[in-house]
Amino acid sequence: MIDLRDVRFAYPRGGFALKVDRLSVSGGQRVCWTGPSGCGKTTLLHLVAGIYPADSGCVETCGVEVSTLGDAARRDFRIANVGLVFQDFALLDYLSVLDNILLPYRISRALRLEAEVRERAKTIATQVGLGTMLGRRPNELSQGERQRVAVCRAIITCPKILLADEPTANLDSRNAMRVLDALESYVAEQRATLVVVSHDRDTISRFTETAEVSEFCGQAHLEKVES
Ligand code: ADP
Ligand code: MG
Repeated sequence: MIDLRDVRFAYPRGGFALKVDRLSVSGGQRVCWTGPSGCGKTTLLHLVAGIYPADSGCVETCGVEVSTLGDAARRDFRIANVGLVFQDFALLDYLSVLDNILLPYRISRALRLEAEVRERAKTIATQVGLGTMLGRRPNELSQGERQRVAVCRAIITCPKILLADEPTANLDSRNAMRVLDALESYVAEQRATLVVVSHDRDTISRFTETAEVSEFCGQAHLEKVES
C-alpha cells in the first residue's frame, strides 16, 4: 500500500534532507511512526501523500508511483486516494465546519459534491460530536473540535490510506481517545490503511498492540542527512 525505495528528498532552500532506503506498509495495517521532533515525520507523510515530489527514488502509494507524476496529477491522486490529517489541521477560517469537511469536493474536479456526500459529512460530524457545530467557523471551536473537523475532512472521500500527523498532540486524554476512536473505526469499516505519527505515549501504546510497529520500524531506515 505504501512502498518507498531509495528515496532522497531535500527542501529546495536546503537545511534538511531525508533519505529512506526502504519502507513499506501493507494494506490494512495500522501503524504508528514515531521519532523526535524535526526528524522528518511530517516530510515523510507529505512524500507518501504526494504533496512533495521525491528528488530521486520511488514512492509508491496505493499502487501508483507518485514520484513519477507531475504536480497536478499528484494533487488529484492525493485527493482521490489519501486522507491526510495535517499537523496544523489546515482548516480554512472563512469556511464553516461543514464546508471545511467538504473541501476536497470543492477543490477537485474529479469529485462530485452530491447530496449524499453532504449527508455523509453530517453523519460523520455527528459521530465525532460535531453535529451541532456544522455552521460554526474554525475560530469558534476548541482545539479538540478543530482536530475532529480535520479528521472528518480526511475521511469524507473514503480514502484507502489515512495519514494522521500527530492527531492527538495538544489534546486532553478524552479528546485524544475520541480522535483515535474515529480514525480506527473508519479504517476498520473501510478496511483502509492507517499511519499515525505521534509522540504521545498513550497513542503509541495503543498502536503497538495492533499495528506491528516494531516490525515496521525494523524495516524502515530513516536518517537525517547533513546538507
Ligand atoms: P517532524 O515532523 O519530525 O517534526 P518535519 O518533517 O516537520 O519534522 O521537519 C524536518 C526538518 O525539515 C526540520 O528540520 C524542519 O525545520 C525542516 N523543514 C520543514 N519544512 C521545511 C521547509 N518547507 N523548508 C525547509 N525546511 C523545512
Ligand atoms: Mg511534524
